Amino acid sequence: MEWTRSETLALAANSCTYCHGLGLRTGRKNNEKPCLCVFRSVFRICLTRFRFCFEREKNKTGVTLEGNVWSRKNEEFVADFLMVTRRALSEEDWKIFNYHFLLGADWRLCSKKLNMDRGTFFH
Ligand SMILES: [Zn+2]
Repeated sequence: MEWTRSETLALAANSCTYCHGLGLRTGRKNNEKPCLCVFRSVFRICLTRFRFCFEREKNKTGVTLEGNVWSRKNEEFVADFLMVTRRALSEEDWKIFNYHFLLGADWRLCSKKLNMDRGTFFH
């Protein structure tokens, strides 16, 4: 995907010391690439939507018609989110993601369960 400044500007953190709120950084080959604060912002947006879809009551979910296809948007987003995280993360990273973001455990509980120190957990 080719990122542009107009896409990254709205997602970048104003307090970011790398991109200064612009969302793009200059790479090794002098090309511009998105800053990590943009990716963190995208992740937070997806996680918020995941939690919204997951916690929504079953009777409020509905089937929607798009073109000629019936679909369950909330359930599909939840399944896609979980599949993408499974594919993108290593086995150890996925365990941390699962305990911390999906199950809501804090760093103390996660580091005890995964047998790692605080620095390794946050890294
Ligand atoms: Zn940044």
